[in-house]
Amino acid sequence: MAEFLPYGRQSVSEEDIEAVAAVLRTDWLTTGPEVDRFEAGLAEHAGGTPAVAVTSGTAALHVAYAAAGIGPGDEVVTSPMTFVATASTAALHGAKVVFADVDPETGLLDVEAARAAMTSRTKVLAAVDYAGHPAAMDELREVAGEALLLEDAAHSIGASWQGRPVGSMADLTTFSFFPTKNLTTAEGGAVVTPSPELLERARGFRNHGLVRDKARQRFPDEGPWHQEVHEFGLNYRLPDVLCALGSNQLKRLPSFVKRRAEIHARYTAALSDVDGVRTPVVRPGAEPVWHLYPLRVLDGRRRALFEHLRGEGIGVQVNYIPAYWHPVFEDQGYRRGLCPNAERFYAEELSLPMFPDLRDEDVDRVITAIRAFF
Ligand SMILES: *Cc1c(COP(=O)(O)O)cnc(C)c1O
Repeated sequence: MAEFLPYGRQSVSEEDIEAVAAVLRTDWLTTGPEVDRFEAGLAEHAGGTPAVAVTSGTAALHVAYAAAGIGPGDEVVTSPMTFVATASTAALHGAKVVFADVDPETGLLDVEAARAAMTSRTKVLAAVDYAGHPAAMDELREVAGEALLLEDAAHSIGASWQGRPVGSMADLTTFSFFPTKNLTTAEGGAVVTPSPELLERARGFRNHGLVRDKARQRFPDEGPWHQEVHEFGLNYRLPDVLCALGSNQLKRLPSFVKRRAEIHARYTAALSDVDGVRTPVVRPGAEPVWHLYPLRVLDGRRRALFEHLRGEGIGVQVNYIPAYWHPVFEDQGYRRGLCPNAERFYAEELSLPMFPDLRDEDVDRVITAIRAFF
């Protein structure tokens, strides 16, 4: 039997390995020069927007919401077509999560649904760049009004919308560097923000809320060793060892983006004439980075195709169950039927293998298996 093809996989080069090994030979394992270098590299890819490196995409969301200052009584409007962390990290701060439905074609937050979900209590509007296709950030900015605009860009580092790079449009943008994402630090993530105030709050929450700046301390005369906490935070510091991997992966990002686009084009060319499936839609103005290839399988045949492909050793995946279907939300009274477009999208979605080291012959194997099924 042919080798098992996962739906996503990291690409680690000898140069990546050397970059990590070099840091292990220095005195700094964490919070040293490699963190600054990685953050500077991320900022460059985000149109010059400053970055804060953290330990995961989930940590990035938790930090971003902390920087936004959300808490009990506040609402966060977001998409249910996402990994649960976009919503759960807001709930952990005590805010109420309000799900707005998605565009039935792209699975991205629907602008009018988001508008209808906004209230005077909405503190953050959180868009998700599903599959690596950027959300309609210009329209969502207008919908956000006084609320902060957050972009969960776990799928989309390297993408742009109307010529503007992801990371340069929202008040807070979050990235994930999990192995299947567009670049990896094993575990890792980042928050980018153009606001000096949000940046300082994000840096604080990443590091226990510790204040070292004497000018801001309540007891500055305590002694040279003194640091103090004004607001609770956590330890979400990404170590130098992993930041070195991230910096080298950033150098390789353009080649990853190019290869993902080639794979996307190869699938679309071979599958768009198959009755029973729909290939992904691209909105004018979007330059996606395809983290996922979200095929839509019609006529209730998604599960059968999933099982057929898994039987052939092809590691397809489903992204995502609507976030409010998780029992933790159901137990709080969120009901099925809340976002019908998202539920239909979920029922049809099948993510095909998509990662930079996937060879053309692997892509063709997936295509052949799908065509054989139909
Ligand atoms: C992966 C992912 C996250 C969480 O990132 P981790 O690094 O796995 O914690 C958040 N949001 C979305 C949309 C994701 O795909």
